[in-house]
Order: sequence, then C-alpha cells, then structure tokens
Amino acid sequence: MASDSGGTPPGPPPSVRILVVGGGYVGMYTALRLQRKLKQRLRSGEAEIVVVTPDPYMTYQPFLPEAAAGSISPRHVVVPLRRVLPHCTIVLGEAQRIDHTKRTATVTTLATGEDGTGAIEIPYDEIVIAPGSVSRTLPVPGLAAHGFGFKTIEEAIGLRNHVIEQMDIASATRDLAIRDAALTFVFVGGGYAGVEALAELEDMARYTARYYHNIKAEDLKWILVEATGRILPEVGEAMGKYAVRELRGRNIDVRLDTRLESCEDRVAVLSDGARFPTRTLVWTAGVKPAPLLAATGLPLNERGRLICTASLTVEGTEHAWAAGDAAAVPDLTSDEPGRETAPNAQHAVRQAKVLAENIVAAMNGEPLKEYRHSYAGSVASLGLHKGVAHVYGRRLKGYPAWLIHRMYHLSRVPTFNRKARVLAEWTLAGLFKREIVSLGSLEHPRAEFELAAGRHPGPDDDGR
Ligand SMILES: Cc1cc2nc3c(=O)[nH]c(=O)nc-3n(C[C@H](O)[C@H](O)[C@H](O)COP(=O)(O)OP(=O)(O)OC[C@H]3O[C@@H](n4cnc5c(N)ncnc54)[C@H](O)[C@@H]3O)c2cc1C
Repeated sequence: MASDSGGTPPGPPPSVRILVVGGGYVGMYTALRLQRKLKQRLRSGEAEIVVVTPDPYMTYQPFLPEAAAGSISPRHVVVPLRRVLPHCTIVLGEAQRIDHTKRTATVTTLATGEDGTGAIEIPYDEIVIAPGSVSRTLPVPGLAAHGFGFKTIEEAIGLRNHVIEQMDIASATRDLAIRDAALTFVFVGGGYAGVEALAELEDMARYTARYYHNIKAEDLKWILVEATGRILPEVGEAMGKYAVRELRGRNIDVRLDTRLESCEDRVAVLSDGARFPTRTLVWTAGVKPAPLLAATGLPLNERGRLICTASLTVEGTEHAWAAGDAAAVPDLTSDEPGRETAPNAQHAVRQAKVLAENIVAAMNGEPLKEYRHSYAGSVASLGLHKGVAHVYGRRLKGYPAWLIHRMYHLSRVPTFNRKARVLAEWTLAGLFKREIVSLGSLEHPRAEFELAAGRHPGPDDDGR
C-alpha cells in the first residue's frame, strides 16, 4: 500500500505495491525477476506485486505462425501466469486509465462487468506500464468487417481453422466463383508476422491439399501485399530479397510497392489495379501502441509510445516505468541521435530485466542502470525446413536458418516445462503425419446441443 513518508509509524514497515500493467513479455519477465529479487520482502509483507492483464497467460508470439500451421499446440504457445508468478497477485482485467498524480489505476475486470460496479481503483507506489501494442489498421473500406489480425493465439488458431474450412468449402461447391474466392488467401504486410504466417499456412495447406480428391496445391492462390519495396526488414536486405525469391518460387504472388485499397464485398482491390475475390484477408501491416497509453496523462512521442529514459523510467516522472512495444526507449548503441529501440521481443525481454533491477535499486536507494543492447539480428521461418536468418552479421538461408530459428526460439520460450513440451511436439511431428482437420466448431461449442434441444441458431448467433 502507499507508503506514508511523513512520520514513521510503529510496527512493520509499510508495504510497497508494484503494479504491473500487462502480462506479456515485459509484464511477465519484470514480475518474474521482481518476485525473485524481492522474495524476502514479499514474504514479510513489505512489498506486493500486482499484475493486471486481460488473459491468464503470456503469449509467446514468435510461435504463433507455427501454432497456425499445427506444428505446436495452442496451449504450449502460452505461459500460465498464475503458475509462473505464484508470489504475485494476478488480476484478470484491463487498465482503462492511469492517474499517476494520484497513483491509481482504474481497472475493469470480468466481475466489474457482471456485478455492475463498473471499475475498480488500484492504488500503487510503483507502476510498470507494459500493455504492448495493437494492430495498426488504416481506414481501408471493408477491412474491419472482413480482416483477420495475427497477434493472439485465438487469431492464429482461428485462421488455421478458417483456411482448412475454405478448402472444405472449395471441395464441396460446384460454383467456380465460390471455389476461387475460397482458395484465394491475401496477406497484407511483409514483416515477420505476415511473412511467417503466410509461409507456414501455405506450407500446411499445400500438404493438406494431398488429402482432397479435387484440390491440387496449385489451385490455391497466395498473395502477399507489401507497401514498401522489401519484406522482412529485420533480416537485412540480402536475406529479404532471398525470402522474396523463395516465396515466389513456391508460386506465392509477392507484390512489393503495393497497397490494399479496399476489401468491400470480399474483393481485395490493390493499388496496382489487381482485384482478388477472397474470403481470407489477413492484416499484419504493423503495430501501434496500446490505446491505454493515451489515458495515462504521461508524455507520449509522436507515434504514441511513452517517452522513456534509458533507465526505463517514464521521462519527467518518478515511480513510473515502461518498456517493450509501449515505450520509446533511447537506443544508446546507435550512432544516430534520437533513435529508439525497435518494438520487438529481443528488446522487450532484455528491457524487462533492467527494469526489474532498477525498481529494486530505486527501492534500495541505489543508482539505476541504463538499458543498452545492440540488435543481434533476426531469424524467420518460411515454412517447414525453410527459413532466413541474419544473426551477429552472419547470413543463413534454407534448412540451416530454419534450424537456427527453431533452436533460438526453443531457448527463448519461457519455462522448462514449455521447452520440453514444444520439443516433444516437434519430435513427434517429425515421426507422424501432419494434422489436417479444421476444428472451427470449437468456436461454437453449444451449437450441436442447441440444435438437439430444438433451438435453431440464426446466422449471427455464435451459439454461446
Ligand atoms: C506473430 C508475431 C510474431 C513475432 N515474432 C517475433 C520474433 O520472431 N522476434 C521478435 O523479436 N519479436 C517478434 N514479435 C514481436 C514481439 O512479440 C513483441 O515485440 C513483444 O511481444 C512486445 O512485448 P510487450 O511486453 O511490449 O507486449 P506484449 O507481449 O504484446 O504484451 C502486452 C500485454 O499487455 C496486455 N494489455 C494490453 N492492454 C492492456 C490494458 N489496458 N490493461 C492490462 N493489460 C493490457 C496484453 O493483453 C498483453 O498481455 C512478433 C509479434 C507477432 C505478433
């Protein structure tokens, strides 16, 4: 609870509450380190860590494309927060506002929705603001109605089910226009999320087509639309060019310097004049900081990220900390003045470590460290046994890059439990055939029973 600086009350010292907003990379890793470093104080009640996050798990986002391809089970892509943070209080909810002058966060939870209380106020002494980012959309007509995002495990699995369902529709219809639209898949955005998602799903669908009597892999049309002249900027120019050649070699239509203009009535219209009737439009054209940041009253840069110091405090404030996609942290390793660290997992994990240590240092009255990490490069999968990598100046492609991609992420996925499960799944996948079914009906678990009970769901009824 808020410590009283005027006059020391007798008895045990007042407790310090550290509120962590967001249970993603930064939130989870910060809380993990804090619970280790503050073990004694947590035990004695001198400190308390509260994590507010909408989901009871942290998502290891680099594994989403493999989850969509069916190479990793959805449960193994997420880390249960209650299990790894037993000494923290987990509040499932969303921070709506932060009033740092009063040191309170306004939070809605599932219960505040149901019991009509609206929201709760959580007072804090120190706050870690780590709500990450959301998809950056543009006002493209039809996008909100028809687009898929690719940031959550639900979206990745939903997309997998949807792709296979489209193959089922195409196989069952005699209408060529429906078949053509069902077998056309348009991805917008050539960063690692878009490229890996497309490459993994194309690979999975190519394999799945073997089991359809009337669909050949060549009947599927995959289109990647990228507004700039390159893809995968994270792996460098040469490897980005290689990735374009690799994808085109698989008959994937990569369109550079092209934008999606509209997708009304399920027709993707591109800036080069091409039109593709499609039932699958995946939008991965970048991210923007979480909307919460605008409701904090704290300083934001022109892109809406919290302006931070190299010590990961929010500039001009005390007791407010931030890192990851939500934070504009000066890149001390860059020669270019004013450069910020990029929004990626590599920085998020390392910043979380420094952030947690700095909170403890501040509590102890010790000097703070500065965050400094030069980008080590990146790895990307282009489907099973295919990849690109540019790490510590070394370029790799094909099978070796894919292997490095897997080894790197296996070493990075949190907890030994997850590492073992993911490794077991990869091993089994090498021994057996791939799974090729859509379990889209999982999204409507009550539909079958409702039908049996005589209730006929309407087209907009999701069965819940
Ligand atoms: C498909 C995909 C693949 C990727 N692959 C790579 C890769 O290979 N390498 C790499 O370096 N990076 C990769 N990234 C990027 C990387 O995942 C992010 O940079 C990283 O997750 C940022 O960490 P973060 O903690 O800032 O945000 P996140 O990990 O997104 O965590 C934010 C958390 O805050 C929660 N939250 C949001 N709003 C609120 C609120 N109002 N109140 C409470 N909680 C809130 C969210 O639900 C979430 O749990 C990938 C991203 C995606 C989408």
